[in-house]
Amino acid sequence: MNIYPDIYVNSVLDITYEMLQNKNIKGLILDVDNTLINYYEKMVDGADIWCEKLKNRGIEFCIVSNSHKKEKVRKVAEKLKIPYINFAKKPFKKGFLRASKIMQIDPKNIATVGDQLLTDVLGGNSCNMISILVEPVEKKEMIFTAMKRPIERMMLNKYLKSRKQ
Ligand SMILES: [Mg+2]
Repeated sequence: MNIYPDIYVNSVLDITYEMLQNKNIKGLILDVDNTLINYYEKMVDGADIWCEKLKNRGIEFCIVSNSHKKEKVRKVAEKLKIPYINFAKKPFKKGFLRASKIMQIDPKNIATVGDQLLTDVLGGNSCNMISILVEPVEKKEMIFTAMKRPIERMMLNKYLKSRKQ
């Protein structure tokens, strides 16, 4: 059981064509929750442009999501104009191998991209794919909010003080 990713990046946006070329990766399997969208189903800013650029250089894409919310997954796939599989039951191999068939790319030339070791990375590794771990979107947002809070409090205090005068 190998739960260690081959590559670790902060965000999908950090996955470059050169990085993929180095490892002979021709296709990407994308996770949805916390990889492409946050809890409120908002997509990572610029993810569509990132995907388009890689597609233009010949990289194939397929979404493989464990979500049973088909409509949610379909919307993301539609925005990126790529095929999708929902309710994939990762880390089981079936969904990954179906994606490999859809993209018509050998597993060894595919990288799985996701935020979870026990589903995305483990599943990809067990299919002999390359695994790319991303930092979960939600966690980054929580850190950002936590950073913003003291500033907000400071600004609010300033505002309240100015009202007293
Ligand atoms: Mg996820």
